[in-house]
Amino acid sequence: MVMKCPICGNTENLTKNKEWGFNSYRVSRMTCPKCGATFNYYSGDSGTYTIPKPKEMK
Ligand SMILES: [Zn+2]
Repeated sequence: MVMKCPICGNTENLTKNKEWGFNSYRVSRMTCPKCGATFNYYSGDSGTYTIPKPKEMK
C-alpha cells in the first residue's frame, strides 16, 4: 500500500505523527513535507483511504 498526499499527490517522505485504532481501522496522522498538509490515513478491512484535514496555521 502506498500512502499519498490527498492535496498534492506526493508519496515521498510523508511523516507519521501519530497512530491509533479507530473501530476496525488503523489511523495514521500524516504530514506531507512538500505542501505541509496534514491528513489522516485509514486502513482497514474494507480498504484504505485518506481524510484531508484543514491546513494548520501556526
Ligand atoms: Zn502534499
